[in-house]
Amino acid sequence: MSVREPVQSAHADSGLEWINRFARLPEAFHETPAAAPFPDAACLATSPAMCARLGLGGETFERDPWLGACTRGSELNGAAPRASVYAGHQFGVFVPQLGDGRAKLLGEVRTGQGETWELQLKGAGPTRFSRGADGRAVMRSSVREYLVSEAMAALGVPTTRAVALFGSSLPVYRERVEPAAIVLRAAPSFLRFGHFEYFHYNGYSARLQELIDYALAHDYPELVDAEDPVAAMLEAVIGRTAEMIADWQAVGFCHGVMNTDNMSLAGLTIDYGPFAFMDAFDPGYICNHTDQGGRYAFDQQPQIAQWNLIRLAETLVIHFGDATREAAIERAKALLQDFQPQYQAAWLGRMRAKLGLQEEQEGDAALIQDLLARMAAEGVDYTRFFRQLPDLEQAETRAQLESELEDGAAWQAWWSRYQARLAQEDRAVEARRTAMNAVNPKYILRNHLAQAAIERAEAGDPSEVLRLQRILARPFDEQPEFEAYADLPPAWASGIQLSCSS
Ligand code: AMP
Ligand code: MG
Repeated sequence: MSVREPVQSAHADSGLEWINRFARLPEAFHETPAAAPFPDAACLATSPAMCARLGLGGETFERDPWLGACTRGSELNGAAPRASVYAGHQFGVFVPQLGDGRAKLLGEVRTGQGETWELQLKGAGPTRFSRGADGRAVMRSSVREYLVSEAMAALGVPTTRAVALFGSSLPVYRERVEPAAIVLRAAPSFLRFGHFEYFHYNGYSARLQELIDYALAHDYPELVDAEDPVAAMLEAVIGRTAEMIADWQAVGFCHGVMNTDNMSLAGLTIDYGPFAFMDAFDPGYICNHTDQGGRYAFDQQPQIAQWNLIRLAETLVIHFGDATREAAIERAKALLQDFQPQYQAAWLGRMRAKLGLQEEQEGDAALIQDLLARMAAEGVDYTRFFRQLPDLEQAETRAQLESELEDGAAWQAWWSRYQARLAQEDRAVEARRTAMNAVNPKYILRNHLAQAAIERAEAGDPSEVLRLQRILARPFDEQPEFEAYADLPPAWASGIQLSCSS
């Protein structure tokens, strides 16, 4: 990877062109955070994919000025660090002020390819919005966020990205003392539903208008000239969110903390905490140990997304172009009602592809639902099952699976329906297998894999983080040397407890 020549000499330090649009919003939107040094900081890993997008070599982050800017708060020519204020509904309860309590936006850059990225540090020390907390992130959660951001991108799921992971000897006090870490993350936008809620529910209507104008220009520029840009933006957010949730459900991803402050206006998966990819399929799976009521259980995610979109709509509706408030509300309701059908269609499309079905047929939804019910009843591993599905065409492989099932007859009945359905399409078996392998990942970031990488990283050894990131960058490819990374989780994995503490 080559280091791109600096765009302008004024930006020679960072090698990037900074445009910093968010920092130009008035002070009501953010504060300039103080530096909080991170002792013995070192860059442990960088994402080759993101470094290439930014036009920077991975080694850039191993030395100043980037190392200092990311871990000591030292100045980076062109950057304009800010922490932003937002609010949010946390587990259904409105909290009037949250904000970047441990995130610091370095600024926004434009790359040589014309992409714009906001670059943000997570865990770089307290800000005005830390609410008494330390502004730090532990190595455990940082390794998880770093790895999963890039793994989700490789799976084709819209997500914020990770550029670099930094470690330090700084102790952080959670349930136990843990080493601190910082993730440099990147996204086209870090705007959350909670940004809108902050200005709306606190009655700052002129500021809300500014935020809406900013969001339109920044995240939805194609809608600025729409007949009713704000309604069009809500419609677009609904559409993108429906697609994102369909991706989550299809890949077996559980976010864990779908508070409105963790929902991205750009429809990206954001703020990875106690997330998990499901092992054995369980629709009611709860990955967050803190979520005892199961508000954010796997099968609740589509409904919760819609609930969150309603909260966003409440902040936008008075800015619709309709003549009366009633008309605007009716329109917002109609847009919100489209969420479920959009989500359903998106999900069905993805599930058809997972089963290798090209055409749309009436009974497909039932065929898929019946399969999922079987999988849940048998506790079948979600990812491995879909990956192995083409192999089940062979009688011996099928006999092997059947011998492991409680209800072989129910399974055989489903299999016959599936075969009859496949027979209605004239795709060759090999072509179907290739298509299925391109949507059914072999490698996902299972908890136990992350755990092994975390334990080594905590001891100062990033080798397992680096190995995992390499494997997960090609989730759909066979990688025979890493076959064990596609195995079922070991028995100890069921003891891993994930909570909001990070
Ligand atoms: P999260 O659950 O990570 O999405 O965080 C929810 C809110 O708490 C956000 O406003 C965070 O910035 C804030 N927060 C979480 N952990 C910390 C921390 N260690 N220090 C300061 N703020 C935090
Ligand atoms: Mg958050």
